[in-house]
Amino acid sequence: MDTAGASRKEEKTMNKKTTKDNKTICGVCGGEVSKTTITHEEQRGTALYLFQNVLVTVCGACGEIWIDEEVLQEIDRLIKEGVPVRKVETPVYDFSRALPAV
Ligand SMILES: [Zn+2]
Repeated sequence: MDTAGASRKEEKTMNKKTTKDNKTICGVCGGEVSKTTITHEEQRGTALYLFQNVLVTVCGACGEIWIDEEVLQEIDRLIKEGVPVRKVETPVYDFSRALPAV
């Protein structure tokens, strides 16, 4: 019974490891991913929020970006109660007006 318990435990550990390892391989193309920091844009209604130096996982092959759940929660928190380091005016252009109607 001890042996069975031990092997079951091992299996659990291995499953956990596999889940973690998935983060090193791109879920879209299977390429290698790495950690990097980006400026993330978050649109909430008509307001646009910018987050500098956001740690994300990026695929070196296809450029797909993943943001950790914790980081997304922090973004939500900052929008609600964070104090921005600065504010910028963002010019907005609408292509449906710039191009002639088809
Ligand atoms: Zn990829």
